[in-house]
Amino acid sequence: MRRSLVAGNWKMHGSRESIADLLQALIRESGLGVDGVDLVVCPPLPYLQMCQQLLSGSVWQLGAQNVHSQPCGAYTGEVAAPMLAEFSVRYVLVGHSERRQLARETDALVAEKFSAVLRHAMRPILCLGETLEQRESGRAEEVVAAQLNTVLEHSGVSAMADAVIAYEPVWAIGTGCTASAGQAQEMHRFIRELMARRSAKVASQIRIIYGGSVNAGNARELFAQSDIDGGLVGGASLKADEFITICKSVS
Ligand code: PEP
Repeated sequence: MRRSLVAGNWKMHGSRESIADLLQALIRESGLGVDGVDLVVCPPLPYLQMCQQLLSGSVWQLGAQNVHSQPCGAYTGEVAAPMLAEFSVRYVLVGHSERRQLARETDALVAEKFSAVLRHAMRPILCLGETLEQRESGRAEEVVAAQLNTVLEHSGVSAMADAVIAYEPVWAIGTGCTASAGQAQEMHRFIRELMARRSAKVASQIRIIYGGSVNAGNARELFAQSDIDGGLVGGASLKADEFITICKSVS
């Protein structure tokens, strides 16, 4: 039985005040019926320490939105995995489509970041997903397989035991245009089958969460699919009531 996971990706949103308010509301509300789910928030980096302090003793765990592949060095503006670990970060997003597109991260770089996170005893949330053009030209599975296989070849299938995969079709992120539950389940099953070719055990254990315009209205149907183990939530995770409703939809 896989334990579900819901993670909020706050991207480059918030202020000291708004993030403290949001966290306090999440901590208060999560006491009221969110059971059996790993709950994660990924704030912007400057707020990590404040979030670490506010979340201490709560059910919420801390995540980061990005990491560098190297443990230290002359990389101005970057943040290394051991630095994140010092702030009790447990999960790190790698390969988010906004980074693949805006920062031109390649599959190979994502694979290096993935192993850097594991080396420092945190769990990578590996984001995979195709663009609209790739889906419309019938290449969605090919693209997702290539993204996953690069990581599998770099780190080996056993490394996946400590990871989470997030299937996030690029055309659904921040657009309000969610994949249907059927489309999402089909790709999640495909990803699990790809994993099963290398290890049936890891394939049955790994959590594959869905991201792309998840909201309070569509979460329950998405999370009810047999291969969907929770969600990666962007915009809707910035509103405490809606995010808690989404978290309750999986529990
Ligand atoms: C995301 O940023 O990973 C995401 C899924 O965003 P949204 O929920 O806003 O589509």
